[in-house]
Amino acid sequence: MKLLDGKVALITGASRGIGNGIAKKFAEMGADVAFTYLSSEEKARALEEELKAFGVRAKGYKSDAANFAQAEALIDSIVADFGTLEIVVNNAGITRDTLLLRMTEEQWDQVIDTNLKSVFNITKNAMKVLMKNRKGSIINITSIVGRNGNPGQANYSASKAGVIGFTQVVAKEMGSRGVRCNAIAPGFIATEMTGELSEEVIKGWNDMIPLKRPGTPEDVANLAVFLGSDMSGYINGQTINVCGGLHTPN
Ligand code: NAP
Repeated sequence: MKLLDGKVALITGASRGIGNGIAKKFAEMGADVAFTYLSSEEKARALEEELKAFGVRAKGYKSDAANFAQAEALIDSIVADFGTLEIVVNNAGITRDTLLLRMTEEQWDQVIDTNLKSVFNITKNAMKVLMKNRKGSIINITSIVGRNGNPGQANYSASKAGVIGFTQVVAKEMGSRGVRCNAIAPGFIATEMTGELSEEVIKGWNDMIPLKRPGTPEDVANLAVFLGSDMSGYINGQTINVCGGLHTPN
């Protein structure tokens, strides 16, 4: 018996990076996996095949998480294709880093829409299914910079802090309906998102991390498996860091 046997999961933004790692780990743990992507068509088709090799059902959907109507259509399609939905991982996210002095309204809006409004869009449409089943786990991928701030990331930090507040409210509103909601706050994880940074900046992060290495998508995926599984049945409304000790809040 695997930890996620019999569960149907949605992971947004799984064509690359952390979402990709979560999708693979979920399939390995027995979950049927629906996932989304925005533009990486080939990577999405390849992931579908990789997931099916674990003996589970898998399907990738091209869907913009920042668009409410597309989120609504996505949830309807998943229920039609898979019959139900139990775990939702709101992972899709972008950065448009620059100092506030130089940040444009467009850079602000893009990040807020993709990182925060997307979480509303997907959760709002998925919650009807989860509440009807009186069973569900929503996992929102935030960031330690949503708890601590980071220069050059006013838009990103604000979006991720918003995700934490949203998570707390959903946990309180939906707990009595059997639906839990938690957030994962990764620190510095090696993906294409952080690959854009200079070697000097990457070295600076590594020096500050007590475990002296960047995290991997698998490090984050391991916690997502736990939060999606029944083993975390009494954990609700929490934000848990996966950061190698970089940020240690009380
Ligand atoms: P990544 O490597 O850049 O991958 C981003 C993924 O999101 C891709 O699959 C991309 O799809 C998808 N995506 C982007 N915009 C989307 C949209 N509007 N609708 C649907 N999918 C969309 O990023 P990552 O590093 O894995 O980050 C994943 C999540 O972890 C993000 O929420 C990020 O903020 C968070 N996080 C990352 C780190 C880190 O150090 N990497 C740290 C803390 C938090 P396409 O391939 O089709 O573009």
